[in-house]
Amino acid sequence: MKSYLVIPSYDTVILPDVDYQLGVEELNEDEKSRIKIDDNKVLIVPMKEAKGKMDLTMSDVYGLGVLADVLDINSTKVGYRVHARTREKVEITSLTGNGDILEATFEPKDEVLDITLKGEKDLLDTLKKDITELTTHFQGGQMAAGYVERCKSINELGAMFCQFLDMSPDEKYALLETDSMKQRGLLIEEALKRFKGTVDMQEALNDRYNATEGNFYKKAAIEKQIGLLQKELDDMDPDAAEEENDYRRKIEESGMPAEARKEVDRVLKRYMEMQPNDPDRASSENYLDFVTSLKWKPDELPKVDLKEARRILDKDHYGLDKVKERILQQLAVMALKNKQEGSILLLVGAPGTGKTSMGKSIAEALGRKYVRISLGGVRDEAEIRGHRRTYVGAMPGRIMEGIKRSGAMNPVVVLDEVDKLTEGGFSGDPSSALLEVLDPEQNNTFVDHYMNIPYDLSNVFFICTANSWDTIPQPLLDRMEVIQLSGYTPYEKEQIAKKHLLPRAMEDTGLTRKDLSVTDGAIRRIVSEYTSEAGVRGLKKQLDKLCRVVAAKLVEKRMEEESGASSETEEKCETAAGAENTSEKTAASEKADAETEKTEKKEKSKKITVKEKDVPEYLGNKGILHDRVQKHNPAGIVTGLAWTQAGGEILFIETTAMRGSGQIKLTGQLGDVMKESASIAASLLKSYYINSDLNFRERDIHIHVPEGAVPKDGPSAGITMFTALTSLVNNKPVPSDLAMTGEISLRGQVLPIGGLPEKLMAAQRAGVKKVLIPKDNERDLEDVPKEVRDHLTIVPVENVRQAIREAIGIELPKPAHNLFEKMKGDEENEPAEKK
Ligand code: ADP
Repeated sequence: MKSYLVIPSYDTVILPDVDYQLGVEELNEDEKSRIKIDDNKVLIVPMKEAKGKMDLTMSDVYGLGVLADVLDINSTKVGYRVHARTREKVEITSLTGNGDILEATFEPKDEVLDITLKGEKDLLDTLKKDITELTTHFQGGQMAAGYVERCKSINELGAMFCQFLDMSPDEKYALLETDSMKQRGLLIEEALKRFKGTVDMQEALNDRYNATEGNFYKKAAIEKQIGLLQKELDDMDPDAAEEENDYRRKIEESGMPAEARKEVDRVLKRYMEMQPNDPDRASSENYLDFVTSLKWKPDELPKVDLKEARRILDKDHYGLDKVKERILQQLAVMALKNKQEGSILLLVGAPGTGKTSMGKSIAEALGRKYVRISLGGVRDEAEIRGHRRTYVGAMPGRIMEGIKRSGAMNPVVVLDEVDKLTEGGFSGDPSSALLEVLDPEQNNTFVDHYMNIPYDLSNVFFICTANSWDTIPQPLLDRMEVIQLSGYTPYEKEQIAKKHLLPRAMEDTGLTRKDLSVTDGAIRRIVSEYTSEAGVRGLKKQLDKLCRVVAAKLVEKRMEEESGASSETEEKCETAAGAENTSEKTAASEKADAETEKTEKKEKSKKITVKEKDVPEYLGNKGILHDRVQKHNPAGIVTGLAWTQAGGEILFIETTAMRGSGQIKLTGQLGDVMKESASIAASLLKSYYINSDLNFRERDIHIHVPEGAVPKDGPSAGITMFTALTSLVNNKPVPSDLAMTGEISLRGQVLPIGGLPEKLMAAQRAGVKKVLIPKDNERDLEDVPKEVRDHLTIVPVENVRQAIREAIGIELPKPAHNLFEKMKGDEENEPAEKK
């Protein structure tokens, strides 16, 4: 009679036609080869009690077992996992130990077909419904329901679900013992009912007690049951179970709030039910990965140590004293209140003034993670707030994506270029979404459309940066405290270059102090001739370039020397070897000493020193051409000062007049505000010179601001235009090293302007000696570096009369007291003039 290898099982429901993952502690080589010899067939035989395999006798096992095909054997930490598909039921006729192998003979045992296919399906459906209903009583039960749903036969359902019901080994065996499928279904139903009874009773009991203790026990009991259930499920589909467990663990560990968990659990459930080729699978996976990699608990933060914070800010940034002071105040408030307090900082300044890198230092000073989110060119609300997941290729918004990147719930987030958010079109306004992000009233429940669950942003330390604040929507601006970074003076730039940029550039290129030194003169020349900016970005680029060129030169030099040195060493060796007597030897060693000295000198000569005159050799001849003041300005041309996003610049206002009909012509790409300034200047001029013999009616005036390709706007050229026109009509030039800035009113008053520090820096750089500024801007002078103030004669003026006196050295005529009368007179005079 044919015998097969026996795999004994304990306390497991063994049924025909079911896939099993059986844990086997031991499987020796003989057994493995026996399985192979038997064409992968084994007998699975239930034991009455757990016992060692080789001690088993017929009385220890139940009489029936199943024949099974072994599909796969995998080793695990505790032994092996045998994946087997059971076939028919068999009756065991003998059990014999044979060396290390337990084998048994058997006879097939038929089952009674007492149920139709349809009948079986109906019964199966009823059972599934009962089980699914039952699973709703447990946390995590939906997952079990998913598995139950996939069972295709009563046997599969019984084998899977009855494992963890409270059934004795005898009761479990009874399921195999019965020959009738119908009977088997009924047995399962009965076991279910019993189980449900216990659960109901437990729930009723717990409801009555409803005390913490009661809940505690209930929870522990249920968790134990879940654990058992989980283990069984894991054994049935190890890969899926591993993935699901992985996500569950991540969800658990992330500590997300209950509301978020609900949504994430829902997505996980759907994900687990999807077929591998489901097109939505990848997007659900991305979602799960995203929300589980977000941090849902704030990091523990060290206590803010102001002294240390100051040290860190000073370490990374030269100067910027006011900015640092303001930041330290904010940190002090936070240290006092022990929480996030105070307004959001907005650092405004030209590119390269250290706004972003300041943000990084603040993060370091606070011991927080740091992330930079660029908002330049964001047009769509969805870029801030994310796309709804119904869109193909939906993504989280930049804010949540940045928070994820930071790896913390309370990082320092630098929102770069908030002034470059473009006005929203049909796709929603990004600035209103940003408002929600920054508003402390709302941002503790910020909902990214993609995540669809609220996230608390109130622990984030936001710092915004912008080049200028005029394009920032007012409501956004209202929530921020503006800190101005007005750009660096040449002296400051030299210091930054020496203390920060050059050492960093050298480190990046692998150069040390032994390789390169750059003289102060050279740095001064680089600053003044090779950069033209308020910040230090261009300077950094130039120094990086210098280091690269030096590195290349050094390598070249060393290679040359090495080839030269190798031939010299050969010579030296020959001399030493040839020296036979002592005196010759002494001479040889002296020679060797001289050689060492030479090498040392050479070491020194390997160092490259860049002096002022060498700069073009490293950086090329093409320094940047600054607009510099002219040697001489003819009448009608005046030097003005402008503010641009890259800092201050000087500009020239040119005026001329020609025969015509009283027209005013403007050229040079002027914006609306500048056009208004021009017409105010022209009107004012006419009103002052109304009594003179200047005939404005037969003259055209042309005002031009060169460099037409640069669009210019801003209310600060009024005084310059007026002075240019006055200089023109009086034919008296204005000194070319005198510059001015200020808006004017029709009453002839000089009105205040913005960006004074940048403008004065530009003036100094361009060689201006004297500057006229609006009287009301006098108080801004404290923001202007002393170095700049010391180089300029700054004259505050209240009205155009003073300005003209200072600039041209003449007195403006008195304007007509009664203009209308005079105009009438004008007309009367006209025919006479024409004569
Ligand atoms: P922004 O954000 O204002 O455009 P960045 O922060 O990107 O400017 O600064 C550009 C570079 O200049 C960075 O490498 C930064 O470290 C350096 N930098 C700017 N200001 C200073 C400073 N005051 N001291 C030292 N380095 C500075």
